[in-house]
Amino acid sequence: TARTIRVGLEERAYDILIGRNLLERAGQEIAARMPGARAAIITDANVAALHLATIEESLKAAGIQGTAIRVPAGEQSKSFPVLETVVDAILAARLERRDVVIALGGGVVGDLSGFAAGIVRRGMDFVQVPTTLLAQVDSSVGGKTGINTAHGKNLVGVFHQPKLVLADTGVLDTLPPREFRAGYAETVKYGLIDRPEFFAWLEANWQEVFAGGEAREHAIAEACRAKADVVARDERESGDRALLNLGHTFGHALEAATGYDSSRLVHGEGVAIGMALAHRFSARLNLASPDDYQRVEAHLRAVGLPTKLSDIPGGLPGADRLLEYIAQDKKVSRGALTFILTRGIGQSFIAKDVPASEVLAFLEDSL
Ligand code: NAD
Ligand code: ZN
Repeated sequence: TARTIRVGLEERAYDILIGRNLLERAGQEIAARMPGARAAIITDANVAALHLATIEESLKAAGIQGTAIRVPAGEQSKSFPVLETVVDAILAARLERRDVVIALGGGVVGDLSGFAAGIVRRGMDFVQVPTTLLAQVDSSVGGKTGINTAHGKNLVGVFHQPKLVLADTGVLDTLPPREFRAGYAETVKYGLIDRPEFFAWLEANWQEVFAGGEAREHAIAEACRAKADVVARDERESGDRALLNLGHTFGHALEAATGYDSSRLVHGEGVAIGMALAHRFSARLNLASPDDYQRVEAHLRAVGLPTKLSDIPGGLPGADRLLEYIAQDKKVSRGALTFILTRGIGQSFIAKDVPASEVLAFLEDSL
């Protein structure tokens, strides 16, 4: 039996189901909520090979006519050319507004498909079937969709909430361990933002989360609740939603500084280092005790995540250059540096006007 979390308000409320073997139940869950709908299943080549047949059979058994649309795996698919092929394929299948777009894949497929669903016929029904840990705890919740452009990541998109999220925790068994760890960093993030008891629970139970079973379901459910809570308070990121960027100002700068080369650094690894740095920086500014960053680093290292700039292979540019990458980050407004800092584990806050000179000195000492 799956856990169910109800998120969102009134007529836009939807269920997140979390549990094993949900792909097998996708057809009945969709048919129950969207009677008579036909479906386009958007997926990438890797996920198609592993999990597409299961969901296709389930849809068929529930009497749902489905068309599979495959895109190449990888961030490059969050682009105008791939969006166009997806939109064309949905229209070629003659789907209408009350038919459903199903995203079967990680955050790339979710962001791309959600955007397509948001714009075809001015908004089609949308179901997320996230297949990475990152997508289950982060990108499938909250309604942000979109693609990248030459000007930067995620600059074109819409807010489009799903009608249903099916997080099958068993599909994560086929995920490469490095991808699982990267998603785990985002899971830890919610504990560090405002759930100290969740962080402590992860410290005690992370091995079971990696192994699968009940603990994994609990962790994903907690993470979804945490994200949904923040999004409910601030859907369009005018305030509190920025807390979800804990570790991301440093993390994005490191991704940019390593040329988005996933052999050197994947997003979740950048976030892990970024969270460790945010905690160290907070201690340096006398906001938090050094015990806190030591605890954070110890946990991240225990699961095999990096925590230091020197953990990134291939070398980094100097502190000046890193600061430039930070200042280019879209969360920087009017020359002031905005960071998510902390007063301790689970006590993160939005710090505006952090002096660039402090950041520079900290980076110099951290390199
Ligand atoms: P991804 O979608 O590229 O998936 C990572 C890799 O795992 C891919 O190669 C994929 O083919 C493979 N894969 C997926 N599921 C698998 C499975 N079950 N077994 C084996 N392999 C599998 O990357 P991601 O980390 O899931 O998502 C990253 C994207 O999410 C970024 O584009 C980021 O911008 C976006 N994102 C969006 C939000 C949001 O709120 N919309 C939040 C965070 C991240
Ligand atoms: Zn992230």
